[in-house]
Amino acid sequence: MSNEEMIRAAVIYSAAEPSKEQKARFGQFLKKKYGSDIPLTWEKSDAFPGGFRLEVGSDIYDWSVGGRFRQLRDTLVKVPTNNGNIIPLLKESIQAWTPEAMAEQVGEVITVGDGIATVAGLPHATFGEILLFADGVRGMVQDIRRDTIGCVLFSSDESVTQGSSVKRTGKTAGTPVGEGFLGRVVDSLGSPVDGLGDIKESGYMPVEAQAPAIIDRQPVDTPLETGIFSIDSMFPIGRGQRELIIGDRQTGKTAIATDAIINQNGKNCICIYVAIGQKTSSVVQIQQTLKKHGAMDHSIIVTASASDPAPLQYIAPYAGCAMAEYFMHQGKDVLIVYDDLSKHAVAYRALSLLLDRSPGREAYPGDVFYLHSRLLERAARLSDEIGGGSITALPIVETQAGDVSAYIPTNIISITDGQIFLESDLFFSGQRPAVNVGLSVSRVGGDAQTKAMKKAAGTLRIDLAQYREMEVFTQFASDLDDQTRAQLQYGQGLMRMLRQKQYKPKPQHEQVITLVMALAHTMQDIQAAEVPKFIEGLIEMFESEHKDLCERIDREGQLPDDLRQEILDISAKYKEKYKAA
Ligand code: ATP
Ligand code: MG
Repeated sequence: MSNEEMIRAAVIYSAAEPSKEQKARFGQFLKKKYGSDIPLTWEKSDAFPGGFRLEVGSDIYDWSVGGRFRQLRDTLVKVPTNNGNIIPLLKESIQAWTPEAMAEQVGEVITVGDGIATVAGLPHATFGEILLFADGVRGMVQDIRRDTIGCVLFSSDESVTQGSSVKRTGKTAGTPVGEGFLGRVVDSLGSPVDGLGDIKESGYMPVEAQAPAIIDRQPVDTPLETGIFSIDSMFPIGRGQRELIIGDRQTGKTAIATDAIINQNGKNCICIYVAIGQKTSSVVQIQQTLKKHGAMDHSIIVTASASDPAPLQYIAPYAGCAMAEYFMHQGKDVLIVYDDLSKHAVAYRALSLLLDRSPGREAYPGDVFYLHSRLLERAARLSDEIGGGSITALPIVETQAGDVSAYIPTNIISITDGQIFLESDLFFSGQRPAVNVGLSVSRVGGDAQTKAMKKAAGTLRIDLAQYREMEVFTQFASDLDDQTRAQLQYGQGLMRMLRQKQYKPKPQHEQVITLVMALAHTMQDIQAAEVPKFIEGLIEMFESEHKDLCERIDREGQLPDDLRQEILDISAKYKEKYKAA
């Protein structure tokens, strides 16, 4: 029965029969509210002494003692409890409280289990609406059928039982946002989980928001430096871009994301790290790493760990994105990492199967593409008219045995503006970060590189591609001609040059100087194993003896020919000394 059919009758419950005038007033109220005459009956009920309860379909107007008590309880629950002494706060809340006749729609739980509740009697509940169950358990409407709705629960379903009541809230899922969240670790609903006390929010944003329209955007043209040599030189990332980090397990995916966050120190970029379905211990480790490197002050960690219910894992990235949008709309730049979206898709699959949706390819529901496209489309660079803020997204995807053609990886590759492909073989051979130069790409980043970087990186990708081809060809050859041998050595030198330790982001001048020097074949007669030492010494020398040159590159981001020549001359002299030593 729909609510319209049920609304054809209204019932008043009270201990004493209402007078004629009272009934007339109820009649007027119903006419005003529902637009037609609704027959009103009275039922005696001792459950509401000194008050009444009016039920119209699933709408309930509660003016009973019990209802008022519940209102008071809800008010008191909201009293903050962080500063030890809550009695004055309680007093204030009680004094400020005025009871109201509550209008609410109440339904009933039909079945509950596996974190899913089926509810009847809420015909007007909307998709994504938050419902309130017994004991304050919250849930979100995820499935709407003819007579019942399916609702996912955000916490343990122990207190929710068959027949218990459910209230509509009329709100969709949202998260508190604000500057207070910087430096904190929170769950998908914005509650702190780091034991550092309550967070003062500056606002409340819906978890699901529309992505900025085309008109509101502008092209990506400002670099977001990651400090990772192989990425900044060959697959540069711009502010507002979406770049996928993809690779098998334990190939340094998270390491790239954390290094990129650490490199934003002092660069006016807020970082949000969303951990989905990870071990709590890994999240703690990331928090400590960021703290140790001074990056936690401008970062927020949103976590839904492997032990959290699937619905919390499902909304975690959207909640993180809502927090990012708060800063973007203020004109700030934000970097957001989703670690990782494979686990996110798995959580969504679990939830969908429990809601009885039909499984599709790899048992994922049919809308799994939309799951990630609507999330990643929210990354954008806003036009100057609306502040010019940006969200740069670094989603992470885990592959199985390097298979990028599986369902979720192909989906996300097609949504993002490029991918950094990490390879196990490279990783285990010591080439870290294990970026596969052939399969990685950045489709917009080139515009976002500084002129200096673009000019310096010149032929690096092509040189490396040639080297890889030749390496395969010459694998079994015993005697090589001199030219081939020289090319192989040059390539090996470049590969060595791209190795980089964790937590050691390279500033722009260091990358530019190294590239200019290396691509001019300066390291040709340096043994590959010596390359790191050679470059380290070179940079140290530049930074101590040619400080102004380094500063000029960082400041202007230009590499005129005379500057390039100067770098080459200094490097040549350095090499002579190095060889002599
Ligand atoms: P998982 O699939 O478990 O999430 P992952 O792909 O995120 O793994 P990481 O946790 O980032 O991989 O890295 C795996 C290990 O490799 C870590 O112990 C990390 O310290 C190490 N590692 C990552 N990058 C580097 C690097 N550039 N140099 C040295 N060690 C590295
Ligand atoms: Mg990881």
